[in-house]
Amino acid sequence: MNRPEMLSRVSAQSEPWDMIIIGGGATGVGIAVDAASRGYDVLLLEQSDFGKGTSSRSTKLVHGGVRYLEQGNISLVIEALKERGLLRQNAPHIVRDLGFVVPNYDWWEAPFYGLGLKVYNLLAGKYGFGSSQILSREETLERLPTINTEGLRGGVVYYDGQFDDSRLLINLVATAAEQGATLLNYVQVTGLKRGEDGFVDGVIARDTETSQEFQADAKVVINATGAFCDAVRQMAEANSTPLIAPSQGIHLVFDRCFLPGSNAIMVPHTSDGRVMFAIPWHGHTLVGTTDTPVVTPALEPVPMESEIEFILATAAKYLYKAPTRRDVLSAFAGIRPLVRSENARNTAALSRDHTIHIDRSGMLTITGGKWTTYRHMAEDCVDQAATLARLPEKPCVTAHLSIHGFHRHADKFGPLAVYGADAPGIQDLMRADESLAHTLHPALPYCGAEVLWATRFEMARTVEDFLARRTRALFLNAGAACEMAPRVAELMARELEVGSIWRAEQIEAFQALARGYLV
Ligand SMILES: Cc1cc2nc3c(=O)[nH]c(=O)nc-3n(C[C@H](O)[C@H](O)[C@H](O)COP(=O)(O)OP(=O)(O)OC[C@H]3O[C@@H](n4cnc5c(N)ncnc54)[C@H](O)[C@@H]3O)c2cc1C
Repeated sequence: MNRPEMLSRVSAQSEPWDMIIIGGGATGVGIAVDAASRGYDVLLLEQSDFGKGTSSRSTKLVHGGVRYLEQGNISLVIEALKERGLLRQNAPHIVRDLGFVVPNYDWWEAPFYGLGLKVYNLLAGKYGFGSSQILSREETLERLPTINTEGLRGGVVYYDGQFDDSRLLINLVATAAEQGATLLNYVQVTGLKRGEDGFVDGVIARDTETSQEFQADAKVVINATGAFCDAVRQMAEANSTPLIAPSQGIHLVFDRCFLPGSNAIMVPHTSDGRVMFAIPWHGHTLVGTTDTPVVTPALEPVPMESEIEFILATAAKYLYKAPTRRDVLSAFAGIRPLVRSENARNTAALSRDHTIHIDRSGMLTITGGKWTTYRHMAEDCVDQAATLARLPEKPCVTAHLSIHGFHRHADKFGPLAVYGADAPGIQDLMRADESLAHTLHPALPYCGAEVLWATRFEMARTVEDFLARRTRALFLNAGAACEMAPRVAELMARELEVGSIWRAEQIEAFQALARGYLV
């Protein structure tokens, strides 16, 4: 992963690319991995940083979706459970099993959820993660020492996967690059090119670091821009009917003391009929989420007051010590690109299936789906894109393709575990310069060597890239992340060979952004 080298590949390309992918989230990068590993010639363009959109803002679950089972969407659950198993197999350094306890306060809940979760297990077949089990009151308290005990009868535990979304995304970018794809962050697609037949045959793009414009030709253009996909479709057809109904979801992050064990809480029915999770994540407690329709998707969405209040009120019902606003270390929002339906009562009822749409202009748009199913979505998309572009048929190989960083015992790297096989490289940097081994803030485990690593090998271009997506500082503790910004800027500036003006601008921009994560 090296941006200048990627840029020079784009300049050197004389033939049309087999595929140009617009959007560097889970969907677009998944497609780049799939297409490049089949042997197609691929260019991916992301307007901001990889994962800046929804793909860094999820609940961090690799799951079949217990809720979709209740909605009767069995095929989605089966597909997602299979993908959950494949992802743990291909990226064991970043996907781990987690116990989820459904606390029971009514007599009917244990048999009802006990049976439902048995079915959930059965649907996973050979990709199962561990059997669900009915728990006594004492067993529930052992797993969830901070659960509200008033009226507590017991619980049901089941197992699902948990991951770090933006770390997996960066690993997928590295995987795609290793397979020969060219991927660029900070390049925005501003227009589409058309051939004499009127079909889209390329893109007009702008490098947002230099403001330089360029054009690139492709046999097929794939729009994988998530919540922004209708805006890109309008570049091809001004009057195209919108495909998606964007919906915002937020999370609040608290200290670990609110959920000190190693199990998560799953609330199957909140007062608005959704599910809510409280999850141990990177030594903190992550609680969410909401489902609020929005009209215009923003790249940096902001939690609404009503959403914050709703999460605090729901957490207060289930946690012995109710968290307050003062306890919120970070609040972040993401936009779901849900596929529209005339029949759904609200956005929570909209399907999480993906959809592939080919416009009259020949541009292919893929949207919807879930992080968990990104690989299957990519397979489906590349099959159709290859047909559309009349490319030679090549089989998909990603079901058994190890993802960059693959390591079976990454836990032995302690705070560097998420880097998997890259962790020894970071340890080498620490050994070469001991000052790089010091943590950047007492509240978080990140150190200077990670800044160098992210800048040298993971295409981090800004202080935000490092604090928000190469590490998760901004999402875990926005105040601490603000305090880390000056040192991060200093280390990055040295690496990128930029001066004090860059540093000052970066610190100011990051701190302004981070204020939006404080409530
Ligand atoms: C609150 C919430 C919780 C979720 N939790 C889970 C979960 O626990 N598990 C799960 O499986 N799924 C979850 N999801 C769903 C999952 O996060 C999304 O389905 C997935 O991240 C969508 O990825 P994407 O690549 O389609 O979109 P994005 O990640 O938004 O990527 C689209 C990219 O396109 C770029 N772009 C837009 N326009 C242009 C342009 N003109 N030129 C270049 N680039 C452009 C954007 O900058 C953006 O980075 C959750 C979603 C939300 C909102």
